[in-house]
Amino acid sequence: MLRRFELHQPATVQEASRLRGRYGDDAGFYAGGTELLLVMKEGLLRYGHLVDLKTIPRLDGIVHDAGSNTLRIGAVATHTSVERSPVVARHFPLLAEVERAVANVRVKNVGTIGGNLCFAEPHADPGTLCVACEAIMHLEGPAGCREVPAGEFFLDAYETARGADEVLTEVRLPVPGPHTCGAYMKFGFHERPTLGVAVLLMLDTGHAHVAEARVAVGCVHPRPTRLREVEVKIKGRTVADVLRTLDEISQAVDGTITPTDDLHGSAEYKTEMTKVFVRRAIRTACARFDGGHLS
Ligand SMILES: Cc1cc2nc3c(=O)[nH]c(=O)nc-3n(C[C@H](O)[C@H](O)[C@H](O)COP(=O)(O)OP(=O)(O)OC[C@H]3O[C@@H](n4cnc5c(N)ncnc54)[C@H](O)[C@@H]3O)c2cc1C
Repeated sequence: MLRRFELHQPATVQEASRLRGRYGDDAGFYAGGTELLLVMKEGLLRYGHLVDLKTIPRLDGIVHDAGSNTLRIGAVATHTSVERSPVVARHFPLLAEVERAVANVRVKNVGTIGGNLCFAEPHADPGTLCVACEAIMHLEGPAGCREVPAGEFFLDAYETARGADEVLTEVRLPVPGPHTCGAYMKFGFHERPTLGVAVLLMLDTGHAHVAEARVAVGCVHPRPTRLREVEVKIKGRTVADVLRTLDEISQAVDGTITPTDDLHGSAEYKTEMTKVFVRRAIRTACARFDGGHLS
């Protein structure tokens, strides 16, 4: 049962942060409520005050910052609005692809990208892409603003580098260069994913070799993780060479990940599935290489 609480509707991020500071641990930020209200109903969290972030103007903006060539996604943008955004479609279609695969229509229409990232449920999708593309989390709190790279934002299951009074205001994703191809592959029988793999391959200007490879895996560990050993195996190779040696490349997953047994499967199963999905995601990314565009 949901206990009584007072709902505060601040007009600014600073006011939201101050309200959280005033009521301390008796207050929580509230966006779509798809996670928060569930844990409150189950009595796992008890708040007398909820600070609604959706009423803050412009916190749901989705813009392309041409100066930094960055996509700026407001924290309270819903999964649906990110998925359907023409700005996202134009500059980072892979993000739309990830969002398309999130949850169901009801959750997507209400749940926000910021809520997803701040809740840091290990079985989630957007964080994996954020880690792969080296997104930046923009936080605003009593001490001002700060930026945290996605790779340092996720600390553990349900734990992030965000301070209790800090609001995640936006996620900044560097727009992949024109010679980049990518893919996101997920798998799962349950409502939430069992596995997610994000791949970005940046080709050199001659389009001959992979200048940089980013491979991140989600759901296997308590937080999304870069597979550096896999990346090293890809870097410097031609697309044709990568495709020819996919088995060898995916073997680098062994010893790179340290999954644990849980309801989503045994550690051994997760390792094998990760190899399969790393292979598939790389193959898909390579197949999308159409002469230099992320499709
Ligand atoms: C049935 C179901 C299926 C799902 N399937 C998937 C799936 O396939 N893939 C996937 O990735 N996710 C999935 N999810 C998770 C879903 O994406 C999240 O529930 C949603 O994005 C959370 O957003 P919200 O706005 O509702 O967050 P809320 O519930 O409002 O908040 C979540 C937490 O984040 C904090 N918070 C929220 N916004 C901010 C902010 N801007 N700054 C600081 N703190 C903040 C809140 O205080 C709270 O602790 C699923 C959820 C459900 C219920």
